[in-house]
Amino acid sequence: MAVAKKAAQIRLPPLPSIKDVIRLYKLRALRELSQNFLMEPRLIDKIVNAAGNIEKYVVCEVGPGPGGITRSIIHRAPRKVILVEKDRRFIPSLELIADACRDKVDVDIIPGDILKTDITQYVPDDVKTDWHDEPPPLHLIGNLPFSVSTILMIRWLEMISKQEGPWIYGRARMTLTFQKEVAERMAARMLHPQRCRLSVMCQNWCTVKYKFDIPGAAFLPKPDVDVGVVTLTPLKYPLIKHPFKMVEKVVRQIFSMRQKYSIRGAQTLFPEEVRNEMALRMYKMAGIDPMTRPFQIANMEFARIVDAYAEIVKMYPELEHYDYRAPKNKNLKENPEVEEDVI
Ligand code: SAM
Repeated sequence: MAVAKKAAQIRLPPLPSIKDVIRLYKLRALRELSQNFLMEPRLIDKIVNAAGNIEKYVVCEVGPGPGGITRSIIHRAPRKVILVEKDRRFIPSLELIADACRDKVDVDIIPGDILKTDITQYVPDDVKTDWHDEPPPLHLIGNLPFSVSTILMIRWLEMISKQEGPWIYGRARMTLTFQKEVAERMAARMLHPQRCRLSVMCQNWCTVKYKFDIPGAAFLPKPDVDVGVVTLTPLKYPLIKHPFKMVEKVVRQIFSMRQKYSIRGAQTLFPEEVRNEMALRMYKMAGIDPMTRPFQIANMEFARIVDAYAEIVKMYPELEHYDYRAPKNKNLKENPEVEEDVI
């Protein structure tokens, strides 16, 4: 009978609890930076478990704060941990952890903004796998402020689409927290009430799994909303095989009038004079019923729509540069039906 391999564990020497660290280093959470610390060890472990087996992995944690998740990562015997933390007040508490595991795990502490940090300079080259192989032993984990996590997600999707940044090493997986509703949108399939642009963008380049919720009450201070934990694995082949910016533009415009027939949003991809004709032509080429509403369009149907759009702009290259939102908000005023971007 096969015996299940016991997960490796690293035991850290006794460290002050996260609660004590916060008190010791006077790490009051700054509301203006949307800092909420996860205090419950069981839930911290649950997030890290969602990442799967990370033994001997290089793990990059974004926004480690006082280091609750960091400790749980280190317990799982990774090869190296890269910590990117914007708020320098947390550096001493992270150094405490790095010191405690000095002989066992290599820890790089990078004081900086994840949106401006190139983490590839800290990742050893030998983790690299081919894009079409299994994901490399590199995992990105983060419990970031909600405002940062959504911007970061979009930025990372673009990097994934170009196999840049951490994705030069292959299909590196991610375990991230989001505001519960954003997490639901990311995973929402066709017909789901939360289906939006972010759903199609995330699912075009990644397999998205909504793992579980964390109640706001598990954080200190308690945020106003609950949190959703999501894992993402880049796909070997995106469903829509066109550049990120083109996919984003088409999907954004189609969802810009969420409650209307999707052709209405699609029309805004084209200048007014040819709008109706071109949108109809695009839907015909894609085999989509113009009366379908945006949330009723499946990912593969979006693929056909973007294929058709790409065909049209190949025939009429000047159309590609048309941007409905461009003329100084004038269009938005003239078109009050267009809703705010929902991502
Ligand atoms: N990981 C800790 C936990 O779960 O208790 C802290 C979570 S707190 C919600 C978010 C952390 O991300 C804070 O430590 C904050 O300073 C950090 N942070 C915010 N924006 C950041 C950015 N752009 N780059 C890196 N870290 C950031």
